[in-house]
Amino acid sequence: MFGKLWQIFSHDIGIDLGTVNTLVLVKGKGILIREPTVVALHKKTRQILAIGTEAKRMIGRTPAAIEAVRPLRDGVISDFETTEAMLRYFIHKVHETPSQGTFSLPKIPRPRIVIGIPSGVTEVERRAVQDACISAGAREAYLIEEPMAAAIGAKLPIEDPEGVMVVDIGGGTTEIAVISLGGMVINKSLRVAGDELDEAVISYMRMRYGMLIGEKTAEDVKIEIGSAFPLGEGKEDNLATVVRGRDLSTGLPKSLKVTTAEIREAISPTISEIINVIHEVLEETPPELLTDIVERGIYLAGGGSLIRGLDRKIAEETKIPVYISDDPLTTVVRGCGEVLENLDLLGKVKVTGGLR
Ligand code: ADP
Ligand code: MG
Repeated sequence: MFGKLWQIFSHDIGIDLGTVNTLVLVKGKGILIREPTVVALHKKTRQILAIGTEAKRMIGRTPAAIEAVRPLRDGVISDFETTEAMLRYFIHKVHETPSQGTFSLPKIPRPRIVIGIPSGVTEVERRAVQDACISAGAREAYLIEEPMAAAIGAKLPIEDPEGVMVVDIGGGTTEIAVISLGGMVINKSLRVAGDELDEAVISYMRMRYGMLIGEKTAEDVKIEIGSAFPLGEGKEDNLATVVRGRDLSTGLPKSLKVTTAEIREAISPTISEIINVIHEVLEETPPELLTDIVERGIYLAGGGSLIRGLDRKIAEETKIPVYISDDPLTTVVRGCGEVLENLDLLGKVKVTGGLR
C-alpha cells in the first residue's frame, strides 16, 4: 500500500548522462531537461558556481578564477563530486516543475531512476553514479549501458535471438554494440566522436590557413557544413560558411570562407577511425548474428550521427544498410523512459543497481 503511494507521488525519471549533453525525462511528462554536461567551478575552492547551460556559456570566456569542466568528457567520470552535484541539481530541477493537475499535493522527490551511462565507466564509477542518484533523493537507481538504452530507444527488438547493431556517436565517445537476447554480445567504446571532429576542424584551420579558432566555432562549422560523403553535384556540395578566428602570424582577427569539401577533408581521418572500429566489431561478430545485421542494418544514434552523409559513408564502407534513429540526440533518454514504462525490461537487460 505504502509502496503504491510512493509510485503515485514520485516522478520516476530517466536520465541520459552523456559526455556532452544530459537529458532528463519524467515519466508521463516527457523530456524536461536538455542541458550541457558542464559544471563551472571556482579554481581554488572548487566551489560550484553554475551547472548546465549557464556553465557552458562560461567555457572559453571564464575569468582566471573560474574553470568550466566537463566531468564526463572522455566517457569516464573524472570528478565524482562534481558529477554527483550535477545529478542532484538536475533531479531537483525536474521536481520543481509546477504541476499541471487540478489539484497538487506536495511532491515527494523520491523517484525511481533509470540512468544511461557510457559503457566505459568502471564498476567503481558505476557504484558512484548509483550512490549519487540515491544521495540525490532517488529511492531506486538502475544503471543501463548507453548502447542498450539507445537500442531500446530506437525500438529495436533487443529481446530477440537475432542480432542488432547500434552505433551511438556522442561527443566524447562512440559506443558500438551488437545486441541479442537482451544482452550485449559485443561492445566497444572508443574515445573518438563529435569532440574529435571539432579538434580536426581546429587543426585543419591552423595548418591550412594559419588561423586559430575556438572549440565552439569549430563545432558550429562542423554542424553547419560538415559532411562525410560527397553530397551530390550542384546543391549541397556548394555549402560554405564564413569562419572567424585569429590570424596566427599577425595575432589579429581574421575571417574567411570555407567549403563543405574542405571540412570533409578535415574530418575524414576521424570518420575513418570510427568506421574502422565498426569493421572490427563486425569481424568479431558471430556469423549468424552478422547475417541478421546485414539483413536488418546498422542503427545510428547520438548527435554525431547527424553529420551529413555519414550514414551513406558507413553503408558504402561496410556494404550494410544504415539507418539513423529518429531524433538521435534523444534516443538514449527515450530508451530509459521506455524501461520506466516497462519495468519487465529491467529483468531482461543487464543493469547495475536497485533498491537501497
Ligand atoms: P553525448 O551523448 O556524448 O552527450 P550527444 O549524443 O548529445 O553526445 O551528441 C553531441 C555531439 O553531437 C556533439 O559533438 C555535437 O557537436 C554533435 N552534433 C549535434 N548536432 C549535430 C549535427 N546536426 N551535425 C553534426 N554533429 C552534431
Ligand atoms: Mg549519448
